[in-house]
Amino acid sequence: MRFPANIAGGASLILGACLLAAGFTAKVVRAQDSAVSLTPAMVVAGSPELIRVTASSDARLDGEWLGRKLEFFRGRDGSTWFALAGVDVEGAVGPSILRISVQLAKGGTRDLSRTVQIHASYYKTGALTVAPQFVTPGPEELKQIEADKLVKEKVFGASASEPLWAGDFQAPVTAEPTDSFGTRRTFNGKLASIHKGMDFRAAAGTPVRAGNSGVVVLARPLYYEGGCVVIDHGLGLYTISMHLSRIDAKEGQRVATGDLLGLSGATGRATGPHLHWAVRWQGAYLDPAKLLRLDLNGAR
Ligand SMILES: [Zn+2]
Repeated sequence: MRFPANIAGGASLILGACLLAAGFTAKVVRAQDSAVSLTPAMVVAGSPELIRVTASSDARLDGEWLGRKLEFFRGRDGSTWFALAGVDVEGAVGPSILRISVQLAKGGTRDLSRTVQIHASYYKTGALTVAPQFVTPGPEELKQIEADKLVKEKVFGASASEPLWAGDFQAPVTAEPTDSFGTRRTFNGKLASIHKGMDFRAAAGTPVRAGNSGVVVLARPLYYEGGCVVIDHGLGLYTISMHLSRIDAKEGQRVATGDLLGLSGATGRATGPHLHWAVRWQGAYLDPAKLLRLDLNGAR
């Protein structure tokens, strides 16, 4: 069975149907490019990516990208599947294999895997000065840091098995955002780290709100994060608000976009009042500014 090389992407469903009709049950069909699309199309380290796949509503989709499992959900129209994924801020630049396989309800598999080029993103460098116990913590502080680590591992290891978000993400505060994601920082000239979130210049006491709907899975003070609220948006996606002076959200609480989580502040390892807002997907830290720009209304 041969098909012309220039067969349109929209024909890939028909192609699948042909194979079924012809009794091919385990045949693998090569990727049709337009059956898969990524937004934003320009993929850089730190990009959130909305992966869109055209496949019938009764298909089963499996995927994997950069060692992380892709979990697909059905879009509103029933014949489009989506996964909200991304490339970690420290992800390697160069070609990557995006693996997607579609199992058709009546048998047969379509392999839609493709190579995705990850481009360099140029982030700034900066130096900060914080209280010395945040650079060289003492034994008591180390104990708390260790306890926090266990709490976070538990929280980040148990995301909901369905998407809990709906529509576009919204900024968590009404305050000026800074272009600080990905900045390589030194603290007191020593500890180097990458800034894995976005800082908003929020005066102390500014209301901090849910960027999208989900479940509050952590709402307590932590050593570095200070007053911290984590929302699980499902399928491994979380947003994290840090340095809060007051926490209003409760662990286990369901929230909708715009619900009050607490008030901004300067608790934990902070140089002054601001809101640090992070986006985490399956352990990868993604650029919140890019997530805020993503048009997700067509997906959910
Ligand atoms: Zn920050």
